[in-house]
Amino acid sequence: MNEFNIHRIREDFPILTRRNFNNKQLIYFDNAATTQKPKQVIETIVNYYKNINSNVHRGVHFLSEEATTKFEEAREKVKQFINADYSEEIIFVRGTTEAINLVANSFCKNKLNENDEIIISSLEHHSNIVPWQMLCECTGAKLKVIPIDSNGDIIFEEFIKLLSEKTRLVAITHISNAIGTVNPIEEVIKTAHSKSIPVLIDGAQSIQHKKIDVKKLDCDFFAFSGHKVYGPTGIGILYGKKELLENMPPYQGGGEMIQSVSFEKTTYNTLPYKFEAGTPNIAGAVGLASALDYITQIGLDNIATYEREIFEFATEKIQDIDGIKIIGTAKEKANIISFLLNNLHPYDVGAILDNEGIAVRTGLHCAEPLMKIFSINGTVRVSLAFYNTKEEILKLVEAINKAKKLLT
Ligand code: PLP
Repeated sequence: MNEFNIHRIREDFPILTRRNFNNKQLIYFDNAATTQKPKQVIETIVNYYKNINSNVHRGVHFLSEEATTKFEEAREKVKQFINADYSEEIIFVRGTTEAINLVANSFCKNKLNENDEIIISSLEHHSNIVPWQMLCECTGAKLKVIPIDSNGDIIFEEFIKLLSEKTRLVAITHISNAIGTVNPIEEVIKTAHSKSIPVLIDGAQSIQHKKIDVKKLDCDFFAFSGHKVYGPTGIGILYGKKELLENMPPYQGGGEMIQSVSFEKTTYNTLPYKFEAGTPNIAGAVGLASALDYITQIGLDNIATYEREIFEFATEKIQDIDGIKIIGTAKEKANIISFLLNNLHPYDVGAILDNEGIAVRTGLHCAEPLMKIFSINGTVRVSLAFYNTKEEILKLVEAINKAKKLLT
């Protein structure tokens, strides 16, 4: 196991040396929105554009071949990272949102009618709500929602009750981006599979914190975004079991996804290209591969151990502040602490923290229905990454106390 040296790690992230408009050192606690990029990833992308840039799968020239090799190596890297069986099971998309839309449109659309149901949970990000609502609108299918208890844990008995012969898919987040609940996805998958129901996991908030093994999980689909795992924006992954993907129609039409085109009839390409219409985000894929290399080198176990330590430290310090109410106290939580301070508006608290150079998220966190369940208009959200430190957390506590003084 490599030694986890926080000071050396921080040097890899050039942005962490930034100062804000008050000349305060940046303290970045908005990692659930997007993570910062290490210089290794930035340099890989610069090198790609400086030396390799070309289109993939098309040219006979050496640059196109090099770009194609890098792009396909990136696919192979993702395959290994999540322990998929085949590289054809790795589809490059724009991000988690597009991955979920792909499944909604391709896996479900032609098969659903008004007798069918899709199950999601109360904890979902809008990306794992709206595509299913749109699907239901055009097929007549019904959306069923697993309720949560007051801690923010899904009520498993209610989930079991929702499963029926009408259920076509369960789509559920691994970790809630708004309140940090870690869902028991292993049991969700096992229970759904016992009734032959496929499961999609929204891994947008777990891929960067937990070792993901799609084979062990036995999930049917797994979606994540490159930018939340220290890679670039505009690239993401849909993993799907080969036998499912093979039987799904293309999601978008265009170049790359065809075998042969005539005005009378078009035949489609094989996996994974069937789902990759148009020029892909080649630099994004190469950058994502570099990010996965980077965290693999640090060690996923090292990352998990360190993150657990700072998460517990942060939870303890924040909940000790007089007037704090933590929203979401699930049995298992990770990396995200959402809170309210007295009756202050989260935005006002966030603005004071911003003055201190501390970047947090305030508002609904793209989880409006969840905020409604808690009868609140939003929270202040602190989300951690492995480059954060206990010193930063102590500065946050100081700044929250300052906000309280200034605003009350
Ligand atoms: N799902 C969850 C749980 C998220 O946290 C996010 C983004 O915050 C998404 C989906 C959407 O990800 P993206 O905007 O990268 O597509």
